[in-house]
Amino acid sequence: MMNCPICGKKHDVELREREATTIIKGATIKYNEKYYVCMESKIDNEFVTGSLENENLLNARNAYRKQVGLLTSDEIVALREKYGLSQVDLSIALGWGEATISRYESKAIQDSAYDNVLQLIRSNPLILYYLYIRNGALFSKNKEEKLIKMINDELSKNGRESIARSKLESFYITHTEPTIENGFKKLDIDKLEIVINYLAKNVKNLFKVKLMKMLWYIDILSFQDTDRSMTGLVYQHANMGALPIGHEAILQLDNVSCEEEIAEDYDNVRYHIIYNEELDLNGLSEKEKNIIDVVIRKFSTMKTKEIVDYMHDEQAYKNTVDGEIIDFHWAKILNEF
Ligand SMILES: [Zn+2]
Repeated sequence: MMNCPICGKKHDVELREREATTIIKGATIKYNEKYYVCMESKIDNEFVTGSLENENLLNARNAYRKQVGLLTSDEIVALREKYGLSQVDLSIALGWGEATISRYESKAIQDSAYDNVLQLIRSNPLILYYLYIRNGALFSKNKEEKLIKMINDELSKNGRESIARSKLESFYITHTEPTIENGFKKLDIDKLEIVINYLAKNVKNLFKVKLMKMLWYIDILSFQDTDRSMTGLVYQHANMGALPIGHEAILQLDNVSCEEEIAEDYDNVRYHIIYNEELDLNGLSEKEKNIIDVVIRKFSTMKTKEIVDYMHDEQAYKNTVDGEIIDFHWAKILNEF
């Protein structure tokens, strides 16, 4: 029952639908139009309410979007909800005005530049992460962690690599071929995660600097032994010795547990690598285990400073400069181990 604007009486009206045509941005658009009919009158008996008019307008605009290949408002809503974001949060994450997404979901037709970004995110969730990072960390830690989790879930649903793996791989884009720089081995992230956890399991108090030195010795001893490094990491000369490219991303890997701690003797944060019991360590061959065990026996009780001093005495360190890649030909003149 409604107050009928045609005859002025209160009665049931009939809701009907038909195909209609309109012009949007110069394009002729066919869409579903809804309208009411007053059965009490015979002529001029059609009318629409404000909300029906809005619905028709949205229908027409979505028909236009479909016709020219833009995301519909429903598709934009679905994309946003996949990541648990509010309209304002998605706008902020993308570096757009706060009301942008709200407008695109309700009435305005998005510009193709904006649509391109949304479509890219739809085909690869990683784009959302990179845009969010590029626009600066604007979310609270909780909100950011939730977003990263949602993005990782989507990546895994699509059979794609997690954010952390993609990040580490991006550092190795120029090292995808086996060369003397990576010890003739392409970066093997699965192996790297296992090696790190094997070390974390067997070395008490494994901190970042020590881990990085141990990885170098493992790779260089593996190269001495087999003409191949174990992990495929590429190392550079840094203050404290050999440091793998993308070392920060290594600590963020999904199977690497790392706790930030305040060091006892100074104010710096240090990174404590914790053994992840869920990871299967069986991916190491006996030969690989032997090499790692040799490195563990040598360094496990050394303090960070001792292992750094030890590395500083290597020709590989003395004959390279800051930032230079320490390639694997230095394996030939490693100090007696
Ligand atoms: Zn009527």
